[in-house]
Amino acid sequence: MSTPAEKTAGPAWFCYAQDLKKQAQTAQSPIIATFELTPRCNFACSMCYVRLSPQQMKPIGREHTAAEWIELAKQTAEAGTLFLLLTGVEPFVRPDFREIYEALSELGFLLTIYSNGYLIDRNTAGWLAERPPLKLRITMYGATNETYQRVCGCPDGFTRVAQAISLLQQRRIPLSLSYTMIRENQQDFPLFQQFAAERGLSYIYTSNIVKPVRGASSRAEQVRIDLNKQLQNDLHDRTKRIPGFVGVSDDPLAHCGSNRCGYWITWDGKMSLCSFMETPHTRPFEEGLPAAWEQLQARLSSLRKPAACASCEDAAFCASCPGMFCAETGRPDQTSPAICERAALLHRHYAPSGERDAEPVRGGATTDV
Ligand code: SF4
Ligand code: SF4
Ligand code: SF4
Repeated sequence: MSTPAEKTAGPAWFCYAQDLKKQAQTAQSPIIATFELTPRCNFACSMCYVRLSPQQMKPIGREHTAAEWIELAKQTAEAGTLFLLLTGVEPFVRPDFREIYEALSELGFLLTIYSNGYLIDRNTAGWLAERPPLKLRITMYGATNETYQRVCGCPDGFTRVAQAISLLQQRRIPLSLSYTMIRENQQDFPLFQQFAAERGLSYIYTSNIVKPVRGASSRAEQVRIDLNKQLQNDLHDRTKRIPGFVGVSDDPLAHCGSNRCGYWITWDGKMSLCSFMETPHTRPFEEGLPAAWEQLQARLSSLRKPAACASCEDAAFCASCPGMFCAETGRPDQTSPAICERAALLHRHYAPSGERDAEPVRGGATTDV
């Protein structure tokens, strides 16, 4: 399966972007950023790990204004950031999203947008066509309205999202899809694949449903698909940062594609390595971006793996990382029984006699690049 970047911009561009990223990692240069513009969403999915209601937001912090994001973006451009992902939870819920996007586009970033697609109407698609992003990824949660109702609480979700996709394709906006798979929409996955194939769109999918973070609440543990069943049904995605028979290292971030080159800024203004990690974090709006980046790198470099990992015979089948640890346990250096059971199961399934693939698999949550 090709990645969205390969599909939309071509393999030569993708290789070039990968090369840039490697150089940035070597130089510890912040080339990839994510601005999480809001924790609000027009959907209310049962598995969402980060959505907050306005009431939940109040004790945590405030959304930053368009002017504040644009000012911070100027600093990120000066610091060398080239790839900028705009996400939220759902970025199109912000009435000032266009103001932010247009200003960032003027600054020269290569912009990506992640959205559920529901709020993209004819007018929005036309506006985007005037300044197309490098890519727009729409996450789908079913292939019928009934499933959208069940998963997202939205009775016309599929109809509206399918319309948005048509409008975007008519205007040649670089587009890709993703699918979040849980128990309630697993049965729609073949229909989703058919939907993507009929429109010639690449897709990724995930069934790795993490526990809620940063004050959110969800039913993640109730709706996760049992890994045993995924393996039996051949639904386990080995193309992503899934155990992938990873090279074992003492460095907890050895397989993190965002380490030393990427950062995530949360809606309330914290800079961290990725969406899952609350710890460590710095404060770029207060400290300035260069200082926040330097401090974050210093704190990340002092992270250590949990002691149990050193002698673990399932380590080569374990996709754990500080982000996953944080999402599961609230700490970047503490594992959980669920993570270790998963690795043991994958070890038994993929290499019952102990063999491994040669190539390590790298991952990063913030970008396809
Ligand atoms: S899973 Fe996606 S669409 Fe659903 S509430 Fe969360 S951000 Fe919104
Ligand atoms: S399975 Fe558990 S102990 Fe083993 S490497 Fe993974 S997190 Fe560490
Ligand atoms: S979740 Fe992804 S970006 Fe975050 S630490 Fe893990 S590999 Fe890195």
